[in-house]
Formats: sequence, structure tokens, C-alpha cells
Amino acid sequence: AHVLVCGGAGCISSGCKAVLDRFTEEIKAHNLEDEVHVVETGCIGTCDLGPVIVVYPEGVFYKEVTPDDVKEIVEEHLIKGRFVTRLLYERPVSGGQIPYYDEIDFFRKQKRIALRNVGMINPEAIEEYIARDGYFALGKVLTKYTPEQVIQEIKDSGLRGRGGAGFPTGLKWEFTKNAPGEVKYVVCNADEGDPGAFMDRSVLEGDPHSVIEAMAIAGYAIGANQGYVYVRAEYPLAVQRLANAIEKARAFGMLGKNILGTDFSFDLEIRVGAGAFVCGEETALLASIEGKRGEPRPKPPFPASEGLWGKPTLINNVETFANIPAIINYGAEWFRQIGTKNSPGTKVFALAGKVNNTGLVEVPMGVTLREIIFELGGGIPNNKRFKAAQTGGPSGGCLTEKHLDQPIDYESLVAAGSMMGSGGLIVMDEDNCMVDVARFFLEFTQDESCGKCTPCRIGTKRMLEILTRITQGKGEEKDLELLEELAKTIKITALCGLGQSAPNPVLSTIQNFRDEYLAHIRDKK
Ligand code: SF4
Repeated sequence: AHVLVCGGAGCISSGCKAVLDRFTEEIKAHNLEDEVHVVETGCIGTCDLGPVIVVYPEGVFYKEVTPDDVKEIVEEHLIKGRFVTRLLYERPVSGGQIPYYDEIDFFRKQKRIALRNVGMINPEAIEEYIARDGYFALGKVLTKYTPEQVIQEIKDSGLRGRGGAGFPTGLKWEFTKNAPGEVKYVVCNADEGDPGAFMDRSVLEGDPHSVIEAMAIAGYAIGANQGYVYVRAEYPLAVQRLANAIEKARAFGMLGKNILGTDFSFDLEIRVGAGAFVCGEETALLASIEGKRGEPRPKPPFPASEGLWGKPTLINNVETFANIPAIINYGAEWFRQIGTKNSPGTKVFALAGKVNNTGLVEVPMGVTLREIIFELGGGIPNNKRFKAAQTGGPSGGCLTEKHLDQPIDYESLVAAGSMMGSGGLIVMDEDNCMVDVARFFLEFTQDESCGKCTPCRIGTKRMLEILTRITQGKGEEKDLELLEELAKTIKITALCGLGQSAPNPVLSTIQNFRDEYLAHIRDKK
């Protein structure tokens, strides 16, 4: 048997290390070391139920396990084959227990590509990654594909950047490959800074080799021998597991000189950010890697032609890279059959807020908000009414009841006044004040504005002042017009994506919840 103990950040904070230690002790005490293997994995996904464990071969899911429960699990389940029923998953709305991992809606309705190994393997053991076809894609491209064929495969797959903008990945690889220059770089953007988002963190903590393998494949495709992973300092576990994985990949000949005995060499370095949200913007990120102040610069030139130290540079985010080995292994055609025509594949969302099941979900593009919130998420707690869902983090907008049945992809979210962003999805119920929500996000972006350009530095400050006035009951009706005018001006004049998208939560809440703004203004509260 295998006992998988979730070692994601959520479960670590709820005490999974003590559970893991107790399992090791109990298994030793019962002389089961040869039969039972205890594995610490990355995030299994149900962060609100931690510490969680899954016992294989049956795949029984136990929630909220404490060290004191471990003896009973060992004696009842592992020795006598009986479930410990009080620790089984409870269906949120209709009630009843579900013992098996793959019968719980939260897991059953997912399609895991980027998260295929997260929560399944020990991220510190390269052998476990290799056992699940890890580094097979790298071997395949180095021995069977020309760089052009790799790029063609990625183009054919239709994969689009999962960092938010949705730019076609294969095209970006092609631009970088075709840019003149001997020296080129591959960069992974792991500066995930949206409040409530932890998709990239989960991949780096739970399956770091998938990113390393993908970056080596990208290096081969575009003609780069060096890569950098830019990770935020707030993710120490991700940095530690990635560093460990890089070292093991080198030891196994997957990084470094003459990878897998070929004449292709590629190596990786980690760069740790210093906590600035703006460094998720690609030109600011590159400046930060170069040791300069992390501020955006105008584009063009795009990084594909002038990036790190002026050299052509390919930048993709963690989730985009995590898809690459699977596309190479199973083919572009397979990938295209998942998701929608214009947005093939899946998207990982961090489901948070007023929803019964919170955590990480990976679903095919084209599912509806209703499926995510009411089926995987198990609906709204305490029988409250759904009010809105914020997608795209602080740069996104709020979707309402009328958007619940709309298939989600890059275009549909933009048409609904929001955006995919990196994948934060915060659910709000009837008790949430949408003006407060808009103010919360604007306060965040205002605080994170780097101050380089006036529309963002001054404009968002003025917007925040007006919003604060409204929430304090001191607003006037003409403030709404002023907010909209400022918002539209900032959107078209700010230098980078942070400023250009900062007004989105305000605009979308004014559009969808104008009556709440008016209630503050008229009732003076
Ligand atoms: Fe800096 Fe904001 Fe201008 Fe971007 S838009 S460069 S974050 S001031």
C-alpha cells in the first residue's frame, strides 16, 4: 500500500508534517515497512480539508487527519481493511460520505494535465517523476525532432500562455528562435502575485521537474543554453524543491552539458524576487534578473527580440511550461481535443472565497462557471445566494449570475468584462459588498504601482480616494462618472499591464452592481 500525505503549503500549515512523522512511527511499530510506503506529495488540492491523505491501492481519501488519528488508520485500514468513517469526505450539499478519491466531484470532474503529477508523486524524488514518463519528452525531442518540429508541434497544439494574456505559445517560441543572435535565454515567470492565486506555486512545490523538462525542451527549440526561473521570495518551499530538483536533474544528465548524451547543453538558475507585484510583468522581471530596479519598459522591443541583457528571450509562466511535456508525449492532436477550438487544453484555477470546496482545480477550457462553483466547488456555504465571481485577480473583473452558464475561455471572459488572468477565482455571496471588493483590489494595485508612469501612479490614487469616499458614505453621484472617466483614461495611457488593467474591478462592478454604488451614495453609508 501507499499512503500519500499532502505536503502542499495549505496542509503544511494545518500540520501534515506531524501526521507524516506519526505514520512513519506507526508503520515501524507495526512492522509494516516492507508493505506500506509513506510518501509526502505536493498539493492534492483540497486545501480547506487538510491535512489530507490518500491511501492506495484503493484510493481512499481521508480529510482533517491529526497525528492522533494515525494509529487507527494503520490498525483499521491498513491492517484490517476497514474505512475510518469519521475521516471520510462529506458531500457538502446533499450529505453522505464518499470514500474514494476519484468519486468525489471535486476530483472526478477535473482534467489534470499541468497538475498531472501534483499530489501524486514525491516532488523530491526524480525517480518518481521518471516513473510517470518524466523526461521522456525531452529524450524524444533530442533524438527525434528538429527544433523546427518541436515548435510546429507546440503551434499545432494551440497552447496559449497561461500567465493571463493567452498569447499563442508556439508563435512566441518561433519569434524567439528566429530573432537574430547567437545567445538566447529561456525564462520561467514564477512571480505569481495575484491575491488568492497559488497555481504556479503548487506546480513548483509538487512537480518541479515538469517545468525543468519543459524549459530544456524550449531551450533546444529556440537555441538557448541557459534558463532562469524567477520565483517570488514568498514561496520558500517552491524555491527549495526547485533547487533540489535542478540538482537531481543535473545528476541524472537531464541538465548541464551534453544532455542525455547529445550535443545539446542547457542549464538553469533560480532568481528570487523581492516581493514586488510588478515584477510579474515581463520587462520588469527581466530588469530584476539583471539586478536592476524592477520597472517595466515600453514594448516593442519585445523580449523575444531584446530580452535579458539585450538578447532574444523566451518567457513563459509555470503553468504554460507544465503543459509542454504532455503535449510532446501525447501529441498536438490529443491536446486539441481538450478544451475549446480557440483555447485548447485545460486551465488551473485557485478556487477561493464563499464556496464549499476551496483549493486547486484543473478543468478543460469551456466549462462553465456554474460547473466550477456548484459541482467541483460544491456550491455556496450556508445556503446563501451566489452573487459574483472575480476572475483574473486584481486585474480582472466580476462575473455575475448571468455569466454562470457561459463557457469559460480567454475570449468569453474578456467579452464579459473580465479576463482569465493567471487563474484566481474568488466567489462572493449575497453578503459581500461589491464596492468594498472593488476597493480592495484597487488598493492592492495602487500599493503595487511602481510609480514610473503618471496615469497609474496618480490616476489609481485618485480613483482609490473616490472609492474610499463612497464607502465612507461621503460620495456623490457624479463620482461614478469621474471614476469611469479616470478608469478609461488609465486603461489606454498606462505604460504596463498593471496600470492598464488596474481599473477593471472598478469598471466591472460599476457596470454590474451600479445599484450598490448608488446605495452607498444615497444612503450615505
Ligand atoms: Fe509602473 Fe503602473 Fe506605469 Fe506599470 S502602469 S509602469 S506599474 S506606474
